[in-house]
Amino acid sequence: MKIARYAQGSRILIGVVDADGICIRPLAEDLQDMVDVIQRHGAPADTLRVDATAVRLDQIRLLPPLVPRRNIFCVGKNYRAHAKEFAGSGYEAGAVKGAEIDEYPAVFSKPPSTVVGDGDTVQLHPQATSEVDYEAELAIVIGKAGRDIPAPRALDHVWGYTIVNDVTARDRQRKHKQWFLGKALDTFCPMGPWIVTAGELQHDDLAVKCWVNGELRQDANTRDLIFDIPTLIAILSAGLELQPGDVIATGTPAGVGIGFSPPRFLKAGDEVSITIDAIGRLTNRFA
Ligand code: MG
Repeated sequence: MKIARYAQGSRILIGVVDADGICIRPLAEDLQDMVDVIQRHGAPADTLRVDATAVRLDQIRLLPPLVPRRNIFCVGKNYRAHAKEFAGSGYEAGAVKGAEIDEYPAVFSKPPSTVVGDGDTVQLHPQATSEVDYEAELAIVIGKAGRDIPAPRALDHVWGYTIVNDVTARDRQRKHKQWFLGKALDTFCPMGPWIVTAGELQHDDLAVKCWVNGELRQDANTRDLIFDIPTLIAILSAGLELQPGDVIATGTPAGVGIGFSPPRFLKAGDEVSITIDAIGRLTNRFA
């Protein structure tokens, strides 16, 4: 099931996209916040009822499927080839040659104010950075609260999956010892186009691709994650209760702008488009 949040005229609605991908039907309940939907319907999301009235997707405007109630958890350096390109780029503070693959995942966060939806404009913030980069990622949406979740039970806590672009100001990431300042600029987390419920896809066999102005830059598969989704949930939930609606971005594969020599940063007018099998396409223009 593909569940989207959208604007129709002046109304904000949550609805289910038809199997053919042409129309959307609003929920029978009057809910505007995806976290409320997740809390009410838990995992799996099979109790959702929709209104009979279908509207064409080209008649509505998609919104970010979810605005998290706290920071998005993000995992860094979680594909081998990307860990090597990052360490070799000169942009990783403290990188050590031969030790590019971490024993434990690097985790940072992005505030909810970074979130925008499919089709929204990402601000380049030229007063704050001149080195903006893209990162295509699969993101997990938590459906059931839990602390100290063992990896074998972790998937019971997943409500669904979506796509994020973990947009990054590389100069700020390099200069400051902590990644937050390079990751947290307003509009730096495009998310969408919707959430696909967990039972509908094979999370460990999804093609992740990213194009910049139509040029394929990233092309990988989630089977190559260094720390897989159950492991990430187990590590994050250790002593920290995950909540319904929490989002975990699982890391980006090789092919980001700093993987090129010289680096290829985003500029005004560029369009970044990300696809993940069984979810859809997330496209944003930078300005
Ligand atoms: Mg990332």
